[in-house]
Amino acid sequence: MIIQKSTQPRIGSFDPESYSFGDHFIDHMIVCEYQDGKWGEVKLMPYGPLSFSPANMAFNYGQACFEGMKAYKDKDGEVYLFRPEKNFERINKSAARLAMPEIPKEVFIDGLKALVDVDRAWIPYGEGKSLYIRPLIFATEEALKARVSHKYMFAIVASPAKSYYTAPVSVKISDYYSRAASGGVGFAKAAGNYAASFYPTKLANQEGYEQVIWTDDTTHENFEESGTMNVFVRIGDTIYTPKTSEKILDGVTRDSFINLAKRRGIEVVIGDVKVKDVVDAYRNETLKEVWGVGTAVVTSVFEAIGYKDEKLILPKLEFEDSYALTLQRDLVAIQTNQAEDPFGWRV
Ligand code: PMP
Repeated sequence: MIIQKSTQPRIGSFDPESYSFGDHFIDHMIVCEYQDGKWGEVKLMPYGPLSFSPANMAFNYGQACFEGMKAYKDKDGEVYLFRPEKNFERINKSAARLAMPEIPKEVFIDGLKALVDVDRAWIPYGEGKSLYIRPLIFATEEALKARVSHKYMFAIVASPAKSYYTAPVSVKISDYYSRAASGGVGFAKAAGNYAASFYPTKLANQEGYEQVIWTDDTTHENFEESGTMNVFVRIGDTIYTPKTSEKILDGVTRDSFINLAKRRGIEVVIGDVKVKDVVDAYRNETLKEVWGVGTAVVTSVFEAIGYKDEKLILPKLEFEDSYALTLQRDLVAIQTNQAEDPFGWRV
């Protein structure tokens, strides 16, 4: 690994009490370039802009995919990653689907560890705080040809993240737009998936909803995901979540929630989650909770669901009665080394 440390670190001017998520970046970044059919040496270097032509293929044809993960600091200042192998495997699934070269494990994992290690001081400690890490791969060839690029860059940047506490949100069940199509790229963290989600989300925002519950593209009768999160529904004391597929991102948080729920003896059903069943459960008052899960916020609790012209208001549960919140607490305790890790998830 080539190591070029920053001569002008900005950590001294970073105020850990006052920052917003995603717009401050740690002093270093990782880059690794692909050309002539192979990945080059990993470089740890000062964070900063890189220069590309507007004819860069990533800008024009969209070969770009990314990951989202976090590093956590415990009370003794030890630093942990959470299930990083999952993100390594997923970025390569995304890359393969976009006909981009997969990255070797040592490039991803060694780069990740070196970056987190050199900028340990940037990782905030405290309730809900962490370092959000963004590995990404994108095309870098300068050519206006609609074909795969011959050059790519793998990079990792990171940004201190704040408390995951987010107020309960209202979400709108999509009955027209979809996030993913059969045979498409829904399971990949392709940059274009996010671009395509912004317009339907903007429309939902105009109706007073924060996010869209994505439904299947053919019938719109089945839940798929919510915003940029996997979705869980609790009817009675059973929780339901859609089965992952080529249209659904295989979320690390989703998988962790399923395992934690089972450990608590909660019944988890993985399969179709029908809009009709959720609405029926609402009408017969057995719908208790609906929530989204993902690395960034861990859990986003839904207070209302827009279904056609109706707004279904969900019950407000006390913390101890909420599966969403108790499972979130279980997960965070493992991530931040406040609890045993029987699953071997902390690294
Ligand atoms: N679905 C989508 C579309 C996402 O972007 C994310 C965030 N990566 C998730 C689900 C949740 O995945 P994870 O738990 O791995 O963060």
